[in-house]
Amino acid sequence: MNFSRQLLCWYLKSKRDLPWRQTKDPYLIWISEIIMQQTRIDQGLPYYQKFVLAWPTVARLAEADEQEVLKLWQGLGYYSRARNLHATARMIVELYGGTFPDTYLSIRNLKGVGDYTAAAIASIAFNLPYPVVDGNVLRFMTRLYGIVESVDLPSTKRKILDIAVDNIDHRYPGDFNQAMMEFGARVCTPANPDCVHCIFRTNCLAFALRQVESIPARATKPPLRHRYFHYLVATFEHENRVYIFLNKRTGKDIWKNLYDFPQAEKTSGAEKGWPAYEREFGKALHTDQTEYLGVSEPSTCLLTHQKLQMMFYRFHSTEKIDLPFLAVPLNELWHYPFPRPVEKYLSEKFPLFPGAHCKNPNRAL
Ligand code: SF4
Repeated sequence: MNFSRQLLCWYLKSKRDLPWRQTKDPYLIWISEIIMQQTRIDQGLPYYQKFVLAWPTVARLAEADEQEVLKLWQGLGYYSRARNLHATARMIVELYGGTFPDTYLSIRNLKGVGDYTAAAIASIAFNLPYPVVDGNVLRFMTRLYGIVESVDLPSTKRKILDIAVDNIDHRYPGDFNQAMMEFGARVCTPANPDCVHCIFRTNCLAFALRQVESIPARATKPPLRHRYFHYLVATFEHENRVYIFLNKRTGKDIWKNLYDFPQAEKTSGAEKGWPAYEREFGKALHTDQTEYLGVSEPSTCLLTHQKLQMMFYRFHSTEKIDLPFLAVPLNELWHYPFPRPVEKYLSEKFPLFPGAHCKNPNRAL
């Protein structure tokens, strides 16, 4: 039996039952592919279910507000994926009248769709023979073929793509692609691959040469960028409501179009007190009615190439204060999409978030 036939037989017997494997709808396949990038299935599955329930068609997604889409995405990370999904849904409605494009090139031209996603949609939804090469496929193929060059090199990726092109099953390209990824995810795993039970063991060069541990080779990672965010968490009372200041993040940086607090970025996290805000907001915050409640212990957040350290400086005023930021009633916070560390801070420090007044601001330190 040849390689692709053997792989497809394994896949038919072993595949996991996932909702996007029950459909040929390109919209649903696109949503699942974008959600599952850099995401474990158990983490991404509930997001997929919520997403397609909220917006079952591309036209419905196009009608949504970007903030709603980001809110539903909250906690999943890599927020540019959500922004691109939304922008692309609008593009599909404008350019194609809401019908998903059905050629590889037209799919590849959509915003946020790279070679991998275009091949996945083209093969699964439209039965077109374009192979996918993700991290699972790279690992599986470099081991099977004993490729020792770094998988970060474009030449290595090209080599794997050529292998996949040669092997793809032209009758069932979608199943073949999913089988390649599934095999890498479940048998030829990063750590402790199941070589003992592997159906390709007798053909596997890495296994024969005892190089399973060292393949795939990777280039050295770039150093982490350390960043220190000093957040101003300022609340005030006005007409029987408690407000908090939020900052909408814009520009080319992490968490674009999500909300956090007024922020000063510093070169270290060592600053105590609230010097970060003294110059800019001292006047607004130095009032008889405003109390400085202290600073939280620094919390850290690890992103792909960045390590953030966050400190939250807490103020509360019993009268209205003016700062050039968005003042939002505490019981309306749930409307806003937040990055995970900010959401965590709000949930821990404002016990009634989401959806109610903070009766005792001293608890929110
Ligand atoms: S024998 Fe081991 S390393 Fe080789 S393909 Fe199978 S699981 Fe992967």
